[in-house]
Amino acid sequence: MLRSRLRSLSTLKPFTRSVMSFPQPTAERQSELIENYEAILAQVNASQGSKQVRLVAVSKLKPASDIMALYNHGVRHFGENYVQELIAKSQELPKDIKWHFIGSLQTGKCKDLGKDIESLYAVETVDALKKCKKLNTARQGGAPINVYLQVNTSSEEQKAGYRLDNLEEIYETVAFLLSEECSSLNLEGLMTIGSFAESTGEGEINRDFAQLTELKATLDKKYGLDLLLSMGMSNDFVTAIGQGSTSVRVGSSIFGSRPPNNGH
Ligand SMILES: *Cc1c(COP(=O)(O)O)cnc(C)c1O
Repeated sequence: MLRSRLRSLSTLKPFTRSVMSFPQPTAERQSELIENYEAILAQVNASQGSKQVRLVAVSKLKPASDIMALYNHGVRHFGENYVQELIAKSQELPKDIKWHFIGSLQTGKCKDLGKDIESLYAVETVDALKKCKKLNTARQGGAPINVYLQVNTSSEEQKAGYRLDNLEEIYETVAFLLSEECSSLNLEGLMTIGSFAESTGEGEINRDFAQLTELKATLDKKYGLDLLLSMGMSNDFVTAIGQGSTSVRVGSSIFGSRPPNNGH
């Protein structure tokens, strides 16, 4: 009884809820964030070639009101790193936000991630077949989630992602994602995090990004795809776009430095 009443209320929400009922920033904070965002967007636009590059605003550990500042300006793609924080924000904020999960993906969290976030646009950190299977199962009946395979292009011990010395594992995951059994996930692209050394080095070419571009060529050819590339953050997004990135994930250059992530 109660549940059905709640449900009918929530279906009314899009028509009755005005934008002012969401947590709003101060006018000062809003203009600061819009200015930062526009400055990054101008650099993205100036760096891109014929392929349009998406700018994902990484809002982890930032308040919902910061997200609304950019939402009010028309921004819809936001990136988050922590499952519980993402679920809370997705429930609190407008339903037409396109959320990107870009944090480390734990097997035990795949179910919550797949099930509880209606407006989840992409999971960019898939690094194992079993996680794909769990996400796919959890998502049954919901809008498909776009998936990026995270690749550990720098082979750093502490970093997540598929290893380039084990292509079979990547092929196995791609084959599953393209199979009929996998009806709730859509393989959209590949993702990497450039190593600190490559991102801050003097070289014009970032070797991590070059490796991801090379893997894209291999997979495109083998499976007849045209995979997108999510690479580039505050420090290295211009280089990444020069090397073929189609989606950059920028946090601190838009929102400012983050508080230490206690509790995560
Ligand atoms: C935090 C984070 C970003 C944003 O990093 P900035 O350096 O703040 O731009 C991008 N990608 C991933 C995977 C992240 O965890």
